[in-house]
Amino acid sequence: MSKTCIIIGASHAAAQLSISLRQEGWAGRILIIGDEPYAPYHRPPLSKSFLSGEKELNGILIRPQAVYEKNEIEFKLGIRVEVINRAHKTITLTNGEVLCYDKLALCTGSRVRTVSLPGTDLAGVHYLRNISDVEKIKHDISEGKNAVIIGGGYIGLETASVLIKQGMNVTVLEMAPRILARVTAPALSEFYTRVHTDEGVTIKTGVAVSGFKGDGHVTRVACADGSGFDADLVVIGVGIVPNVELAQASGLEVENGVVVDEFCRTADPDIVAAGDCSNHPNALYKQRLRLESVPNASEQGKTAAASICGNDKAYNTLPWFWSDQYDLKLQIAGLSQGYDQMVIRGDSNSRSFVAFYLKEGRLISADCVNRPREFMLSKRLIAEKIAVDPLRLADEGISPKEFLE
Ligand SMILES: Cc1cc2nc3c(=O)[nH]c(=O)nc-3n(C[C@H](O)[C@H](O)[C@H](O)COP(=O)(O)OP(=O)(O)OC[C@H]3O[C@@H](n4cnc5c(N)ncnc54)[C@H](O)[C@@H]3O)c2cc1C
Repeated sequence: MSKTCIIIGASHAAAQLSISLRQEGWAGRILIIGDEPYAPYHRPPLSKSFLSGEKELNGILIRPQAVYEKNEIEFKLGIRVEVINRAHKTITLTNGEVLCYDKLALCTGSRVRTVSLPGTDLAGVHYLRNISDVEKIKHDISEGKNAVIIGGGYIGLETASVLIKQGMNVTVLEMAPRILARVTAPALSEFYTRVHTDEGVTIKTGVAVSGFKGDGHVTRVACADGSGFDADLVVIGVGIVPNVELAQASGLEVENGVVVDEFCRTADPDIVAAGDCSNHPNALYKQRLRLESVPNASEQGKTAAASICGNDKAYNTLPWFWSDQYDLKLQIAGLSQGYDQMVIRGDSNSRSFVAFYLKEGRLISADCVNRPREFMLSKRLIAEKIAVDPLRLADEGISPKEFLE
C-alpha cells in the first residue's frame, strides 16, 4: 500500500523537502499542512520588495502551483496541526480531522518574539513575520507620518530602509549600545548607522522601550528613561522563537529547537525536522546550532528528504545569510561568533568592502558588502578550511581568485 509523508508547515523547508522527496524516490503520498492560507512563499521579501510594493504575492511564491501538481504534492492550507500522536502515527488538525502518516516532517519554523509592554494591542503596533503582518503594516504606511522601529537587527533595518523611501519619518530604537550587536562587529554597526543616518533615519541606541500610548491607535512610544517618540506606525522586530511546542508535547527532545542529528532525524525513526525549528550538530563549527536562514531551511529540507527515503546524506552546508538595505547587498558567509581578529578589505567608508573574521588564525566568517566575488571566495575558504594570511586578505592588490591558486 502507498505510504504517506506529512509535512507540517508550508514554507521554505517544506517547499524544498517535498520536491526533494520525489527526487529521492518517494513514490507515496505527500501532504503539506500549513496554517497560513498561502502556498509556500519567499519570506525575505516581506521586509524588502513585498513591503515596498515592488512585488506582490505571485512574485514571491517559491514555486508555481504547476510544479507541485506535477509532483503530486497535496496541500491543506489555513489549518493547524494541533497534536502528534507518535504511538498511533497520527496527527490531529484544529478541525478535529485525524490523519495517518508513515513519515512525518516537522517544518514548523519560528514565530516572532513578542514583548509584554503596555499598549502593544493598540492599532498601528505591528510585528513582521508573514504576509498578513505586512498587509497590516502597508495599510499604516503614510508619507510624512512617523514610523518607529523597535529593534536594530536586520529585519528592523530593512524595514527602516523601505519606510524611509516611502516618505515616512523613521526612528529605530535599539536597546543594545549598537545596532546589529548580536550578529556583527562594531565596524559593520558603525557602517550601517552611518548609511541609515545619511538616508534620514534616526537611530537611537541604549534605549529601552517601556510602552506604547494612544487612544485606540498608537501615537507615541514611551521609553524607560522618560523620553518618548511620536509614532503613527510601530514595527517590533526583536527576534524570533522556534515553533517547537507540537514536537515537545509529542515527547520529542527539544532544546532551542527540535533536536536532530546531522541527517535531520529526531530520535523517532519516522520523524525528521528541518529549517528554523531544528537544532542540529554542525561539523564545521563543532557545536549544535539552530539557524534562522533560507539557505539552511532549503538545505535541511534536502537532507531530511534523503533521510526519509533511506539515502542518508549528512547536512554540512556552510551557514550563510544576506540582507538588502538601499543599494547595499550584504552577504554573510559563516558565523562570526567567537572571532578574535577582524580585518577589513576595502574602505568601510565606501559602499563596497569586506569584514573578515578569524579565530586562532583561521577564517570563520565574512561580511561582504556589495562584494559577491569575495563572498564566493569566503564560502570556499571557510568550508574547505583553507589557510589564509590576514594581511593578504586585506590587500586589494591580490584578486579573490588568487587565494585559491
Ligand atoms: C521579514 C523577514 C526577512 C527575512 N530575511 C531573510 C534574508 O534576507 N535571508 C535569509 O536567509 N533569511 C531571511 N529570513 C529568515 C527566513 O525567512 C527563515 O529562516 C525561513 O523562512 C525559515 O523557513 P522554515 O520553512 O524553516 O520556517 P518558516 O518560514 O517559519 O515557516 C514555517 C511555517 O509553518 C507554519 N506552522 C507552524 N506550526 C504549524 C502547525 N502546527 N500547523 C501548521 N502550520 C504550522 C508557520 O505558520 C509557517 O508558515 C527572513 C525572515 C523574515 C520574517
